[in-house]
Amino acid sequence: MSPRLAIVGGGIAGLAALAEAHARGVPAVLYEPRTLGGVAVTRQVQPGWTHETGPTSFTARSAALVQLIDRLGLRAELEQLGRAARQRFLRRNGQLRANLSALSWRERWGLVTGMFQAPADAAEVSVRDWAAARFGDVFADEVVGAMVTGIWAADGRELEMASAFPAVFAAARGAPMWRAFGRMPKERPLPGGTWSLRGGLGRIGETAAARWGNTVRRAEVAGISAGRDGWTIHADDGEVSVARVVLATPAGAAAPLLGDVAPAAALELGQVRSSPIVAAHWLATECHFPTGFGYLAGPQEGAAVLGSLFTGDLFPDRSPRGLRAGVTLLGGTREPDAVRLADDAIRGRLEREHELLTGRPLRLEALDVVRHPRAVPLPTPGHAARRLRVHAALPPGLALAGAWDGDGSMEAAAASGRAAAERMCA
Ligand SMILES: Cc1cc2nc3c(=O)[nH]c(=O)nc-3n(C[C@H](O)[C@H](O)[C@H](O)COP(=O)(O)OP(=O)(O)OC[C@H]3O[C@@H](n4cnc5c(N)ncnc54)[C@H](O)[C@@H]3O)c2cc1C
Repeated sequence: MSPRLAIVGGGIAGLAALAEAHARGVPAVLYEPRTLGGVAVTRQVQPGWTHETGPTSFTARSAALVQLIDRLGLRAELEQLGRAARQRFLRRNGQLRANLSALSWRERWGLVTGMFQAPADAAEVSVRDWAAARFGDVFADEVVGAMVTGIWAADGRELEMASAFPAVFAAARGAPMWRAFGRMPKERPLPGGTWSLRGGLGRIGETAAARWGNTVRRAEVAGISAGRDGWTIHADDGEVSVARVVLATPAGAAAPLLGDVAPAAALELGQVRSSPIVAAHWLATECHFPTGFGYLAGPQEGAAVLGSLFTGDLFPDRSPRGLRAGVTLLGGTREPDAVRLADDAIRGRLEREHELLTGRPLRLEALDVVRHPRAVPLPTPGHAARRLRVHAALPPGLALAGAWDGDGSMEAAAASGRAAAERMCA
């Protein structure tokens, strides 16, 4: 059967769109020249050591990612992370501090009194200023700053609160936080906590390739043009005519494809920034970090890394017994050139950081450095308004999707892919 819908891009957004098309019985073709799941949601499997190149877990805030997992027949493979995931550390003044102990008594009191503040927030207020208006400058810079580092590898000053934390922003607009909690969406597709898939989230793309491979073309799309009854997809394996298109590539890759058919949208998409991340995956014979989820270093720390995840503590079955496993992140908007650092320089930074924080040496057995020049799309000020302008500038029969069409997360990617396919399959 010839396809009615073409989906360009096989990351989480494209796969969620394909799953929706399948569920509705709409014949579809998906173009992806590289790995299904996107470059981020991919796993590296080596004998005795499996590590994820991008996200390792999610918090199940939105239903779309869980539905994609369900539609791939992987629901029984969902696993909730154990106790180690609850022990999280913050690097403050060159020391690792666990959970609440990271905050001084004064800061804890500031957190309580901040719950009763209801400042007037501008539509484009930054994450940093939103937090500072309630909980003070130090908390906003050091605690919220570290959290923003962990999610976007960016600074809270660079991000728009309304796009980065839309549910919190909407619930707390004109209301104190204590009341906002009651207004936030309660429904979750899974119980609270942190979730992954047995063996890794990379199984999403691998399972999609096995189950839906006959609807996937391993080709790069070079252009899209308007045809008589829809669109012509110009790919490096030939041309295909379809009625509708979902373009689920990163914003920067969508812009040139839209140049002829939606130039105003292309211009807006070209403005979406991303943060660069280096993910240094390691196995150590000697490592003295405490056990837990990992730690983050806010911008004020001046650290040579953004933080580390102790993946071996979270997923003991993915690394060799007796070795400690983790991933240390570097770069971000704080140090974009880190993606050009050589492996030896990265190794040196890991060793010095560990010694500084624990006073003892780190002895590495293996190091696998993955560089992501455009890792996470950033919801910078004006992002919500930009998204509206982009969608408004699209011709009928063409929809856009991707993590950029939300807060930059995997869950946003799944939600936007499913929504785009719903519109295009209607
Ligand atoms: C190191 C790292 C850690 C992360 N951690 C988290 C986390 O903990 N939690 C979280 O929620 N998110 C995390 N993310 C972000 C998250 O992984 C991504 O935002 C999300 O996976 C993006 O999905 P996407 O489908 O929008 O885009 P992508 O995954 O970028 O997929 C787009 C696809 O389009 C394809 N493509 C591009 N151009 C063309 C073309 N011309 N023709 C055909 N195909 C094309 C690309 O090959 C790509 O596969 C992390 C990312 C990284 C890099």
